Amino acid sequence: MVGGEDADRFRVALDRAGEALGRGTLWHINSTAEGGGVAELLRANLGYLAGNGVRVRWAIFEADPGFFQITKRIHNRLHGDEGDGGELGAHERQQYGEAARRNAEQLAALVRPGDVAVVHDPQPAGLVAGLTEAGVHVVWTCHVGIDTPNDVTRSAWRFLLPFVEHASAYVFTRGSYVWDVLDHRKVVLIPPCIDPLALKNVELLDSQREAIIAITGLATARTDETPSFQGLDGTVREVARRADILEAMPVPAGAPIVTQVSRWDRLKDPVGVLRGFAEVRDLGDVHLILAGPSPSSVADDPEAEAVLSELREAWAKQSAPVRERVHIANLPTADVDENAIIVNALQRRADVVVQKSLAEGFGLTVTEAMWKRRPLVASAVGGILEQIENGVHGLLVDPSDLSAFGSAVRDLLSDPGRAAALGQAAHERVRDRFLPPDYLSANLEVVVAVADGELSSP
Ligand code: UDP
Repeated sequence: MVGGEDADRFRVALDRAGEALGRGTLWHINSTAEGGGVAELLRANLGYLAGNGVRVRWAIFEADPGFFQITKRIHNRLHGDEGDGGELGAHERQQYGEAARRNAEQLAALVRPGDVAVVHDPQPAGLVAGLTEAGVHVVWTCHVGIDTPNDVTRSAWRFLLPFVEHASAYVFTRGSYVWDVLDHRKVVLIPPCIDPLALKNVELLDSQREAIIAITGLATARTDETPSFQGLDGTVREVARRADILEAMPVPAGAPIVTQVSRWDRLKDPVGVLRGFAEVRDLGDVHLILAGPSPSSVADDPEAEAVLSELREAWAKQSAPVRERVHIANLPTADVDENAIIVNALQRRADVVVQKSLAEGFGLTVTEAMWKRRPLVASAVGGILEQIENGVHGLLVDPSDLSAFGSAVRDLLSDPGRAAALGQAAHERVRDRFLPPDYLSANLEVVVAVADGELSSP
């Protein structure tokens, strides 16, 4: 799937990282094992390192709901949004620091001087100091940000700066997210990637896709197939769980589908998707499926339940014809592989995939849909701009313009030739830029640099 140059770069990076790490371990640390882009990124990529001889471990930062309320506030503010409007003062700093200390104590027994730790996002950023003191080279990676920082964003930087500034390197996913208060000599830009071989993205037979969609209840499908798939360990598995769906009637077999698959997060604007869809005239028999993980499954996201309730209320207020066409689905998350294959089937079944985020760090759901050659209507914000050139790899809209969003969806549904051309260009874009060898090589190069002391500030 990847070109020779990318493969060569990856091999060289692996060799150099192996030498630089010696007997040391490469750690990746984030705050949830499932749900959200970082968990997806690590799940997909770390096996390629382990399988190539890099000693790599993934640790999850654990904390109580009060802590995640603070970090969700930080997350929203980094996107320029006030979130719950709460404080980020001395009390929050103390609570944040306490959780970091508890996690650092546990890690201290596991890490060794000379190890390298890649710490992802604000939640575990409080570990930077403790790990550095333990002789670990720390790379802090920030997957979120905003193109034009405002005072709200800067207030989150101020909160985090004392915790992260002593990292040996800072990785950002996009140039405009880099904080101007950081030492720019230590900054590296690395966009994330998707894994075409992960269950989330592997090719599916049409019959297999339909069977998976049918068993979960996401749409009616005419098929006698069993909803089976091959697990990553080679065993044949079957999708067994149904999605928990709010709907007036099931999606009829063969009906065109528009979908957004995302965590239940206000910045993903599911209510806006519903309203934009409701505004589309001449919808024909098109249905909208808004799908996301069960709120309880995403440990570091305390707002999901409330966002889902708001969406359900907005749905209940729609006219009967709109309610009949909009389906709100909580996808089963008890088994990550099952969840991944369901997302895969849904994205492949969709005639148009939308991502109407108000802000978006990168948007792996966009990358996933692009890889699957789906025509996309997405917001012209953040990391989505890194992926889609408007009119070339999909259509970009202003997320506050609901009627432009609705028209773009209708245009793609009514012009299959254009939709297919955009989908093909999107696939090629991902192949050229957002696959594991690109991501892993760039990361390993940072690992080598920090292990050799090249990126540390003087
Ligand atoms: N996702 C999932 N199951 C779901 C909904 C979402 O596995 O029910 C995945 C989705 O496929 C993607 C990730 O969660 O891989 C979301 O990453 P993205 O970068 O789009 O957004 P984030 O959640 O990190 O803000």
